[in-house]
Amino acid sequence: MRLILLGPPGAGKGTQAQRLTTRYKIVQLSTGDMLRAAVAAGTPVGLRAKSIMEKGELVPDDVVVAIVAERIDQPDARRGFVLDGFPRTVPQAEALDRLLADRGLKLDAVIELKVDEGILLDRIERRVAEMLSRGEKIRADDNPEVLKGRLAAYRAQTAPLTDYYSRKGLLEAVDGMASIDEVTAAINRLLRSRKRPKRTAKRPSSGPPKSKPRERARLRSRKGKAPKRGKSASRRGATGSKRAPQPAKKRAGNRRNRGRRS
Ligand code: AMP
Repeated sequence: MRLILLGPPGAGKGTQAQRLTTRYKIVQLSTGDMLRAAVAAGTPVGLRAKSIMEKGELVPDDVVVAIVAERIDQPDARRGFVLDGFPRTVPQAEALDRLLADRGLKLDAVIELKVDEGILLDRIERRVAEMLSRGEKIRADDNPEVLKGRLAAYRAQTAPLTDYYSRKGLLEAVDGMASIDEVTAAINRLLRSRKRPKRTAKRPSSGPPKSKPRERARLRSRKGKAPKRGKSASRRGATGSKRAPQPAKKRAGNRRNRGRRS
């Protein structure tokens, strides 16, 4: 399962991402967390990102794309991941497409948490109070002034991603104003319903059963000809078919059975 959570700061992406990791045994990839770790460790990336993050602006695309590229190649991300806070710009989304295509991977869904901006300030203030009560360090960008900048960055640079993913048929929207449990339930429901059509597509409920390409080619070449034996069996062998040649009668019977089964 490979997912993206989209939504403005304070929409609840981190909380929902954590729940998804437990449910689907995937990892949460939060570029915000990775950048904060880099800042704390004083790495070159951290030094470059620190002042940008403190202002609530976006770290350059090449920096975040590089850290995501490195992260998705780690063994724990093989089962899948939920991206939280990435991509945040269209060029980042395009870079992610390339990263995934190079690895033969695909996204399953992009989930947008829709919230009224008016409540975000309240939520962030609550988050700060909760962190303080747990004795945790407050994020430098979790304050009303910086939040305005982060929201502006979201509106200008990240919100266009909803169109980007909608055009690809990947976007799903969830009411992020509902309770945490309700949002989780809505996400689980939509992920289940996205999976369903794929399963039914393999076994159409009506219409004649579809033959496989190799069988179709064989039937086309047979059209109007009497059933062949001997020579044709050796020709079948040349196509690499592992099935032993069968008498013509038995083959016809098999075809009939296949028709009835579907
Ligand atoms: P977050 O924890 O996702 O709210 O991110 C905190 C800050 O990290 C953001 O305000 C940005 O400065 C920076 N950041 C996180 N993810 C990205 C990203 N994908 N692109 C650019 N900057 C990012």
